[in-house]
Amino acid sequence: MNNPFESALTQLQRAAQTRKFPKAFLEEIASPKREVRISIPVVMDNGDMQVFEGYRVEHNNARGPYKGGIRYHQDTDISEVKALAFWMALKCAVANIPMGGGKGGITVNPKELSKKELEALSRGWVRGMADILGPKKDVPAPDVNTTPEIMAWMTDEFSKISGDTTNATFTGKPLEIGGSEGRGPATGLGGYYVFRTLSEKYGIKKGATVAIQGMGNVGGNAAEIFEREGYTIVAISDSKGGIYKADGFKVSDVLAYKKEKGTLAGFPGATTVSNNELLELPCDVLIPAALENQITSHNVEEIKAKFILELANGPITPEADEVLFEKNIPVVPDILANSGGVTVSTYEWEQNLKGEHWSEADVLKRLDTEITKESLIVYERSVALKTDLRRAAFVVALERIASAMEYKLEDSK
Ligand code: NAD
Repeated sequence: MNNPFESALTQLQRAAQTRKFPKAFLEEIASPKREVRISIPVVMDNGDMQVFEGYRVEHNNARGPYKGGIRYHQDTDISEVKALAFWMALKCAVANIPMGGGKGGITVNPKELSKKELEALSRGWVRGMADILGPKKDVPAPDVNTTPEIMAWMTDEFSKISGDTTNATFTGKPLEIGGSEGRGPATGLGGYYVFRTLSEKYGIKKGATVAIQGMGNVGGNAAEIFEREGYTIVAISDSKGGIYKADGFKVSDVLAYKKEKGTLAGFPGATTVSNNELLELPCDVLIPAALENQITSHNVEEIKAKFILELANGPITPEADEVLFEKNIPVVPDILANSGGVTVSTYEWEQNLKGEHWSEADVLKRLDTEITKESLIVYERSVALKTDLRRAAFVVALERIASAMEYKLEDSK
């Protein structure tokens, strides 16, 4: 299994081979500013005490407060959180929003916890991290297995500790406590806007077939949006596996089936596939929307898609990336493809700080305009540099971070 932080550093190295950057800058941007690890004791429902490990990594804040989600997963560790924090710094720069990059996590399988235990754990994470958080310092958000409800508990815990009533320290909150219209589908929708802008450059037509790995916030919304926009969803999966139907699904039926049965297995008229098989299915567009390290040197030769949109973070290893580049299969990199989430999170933060509430139409229009503009900048850079979209996106992001860092004092960069 690839170490995600090593993968991120390999991507950095490749970008630096494409366009020269000062050595000192590259050294600095390769390390996070701060890594925090805490232990979180939780009294479980049976009265026993269980101790969980929690993390926050703050990578770079030259362009604004640290920003990035909190992941709850049994495999989450400091290396994963470091990689995700680094990608967040680049993502906020490529999306051109006034934020730096950070990420958090807890090593836990939240499905094994009761709601009461989950709330105690979430509040415990905030107590352990409170000193470094704040609307002008570090602004977390949801990620895998963290929900608007969890953000609400965290917001409440933080306001009790700090007295801050802006609610601007966490984004992805429910609307009632300052959440933004449009934040739920923002990552999937932003991904669609990026896809709409770039796919035509590579000859992908309306009606193309789409396979999606993962059907949580990102994958589930993407499935509905791509179907609505005239694409055919031929495969979709959750952590237990997926389903395939060559002539396409009605996505609302699949989501309703999963809600009722808790699984996709047995969906009428579909073939059951494993998550690995899903990646290798015949389709025009492949959308990994689950976890990292899914397309690797082991399965890359089997990929049949003509175009890949990375809605998950880090789903393709650097080795596999090179093979896809040689085979001329365009990959829209995570730091651009899934930047719609953090963009609308930033709108949420801005609304909270100004005491405003914007309409859904205003939020989505602004997202469309900004993400489309940045997608074209990355595409044009890839053409000018004769390179892939990932290296181009890294170059654009690194240039923006480097420019911001130039104005800092040497010893406080
Ligand atoms: P989620 O918890 O809502 O959903 C995750 C989905 O992945 C679930 O359907 C789960 O069943 C599935 N899954 C888990 N393990 C899997 C496996 N091994 N194979 C296939 N499917 C598996 O999480 P999410 O918010 O949808 O995040 C998904 C990805 O998108 C992550 O990489 C995350 O970092 C990234 N992302 C999320 C956001 C956001 O706004 N939520 C923003 C940017 C990037």
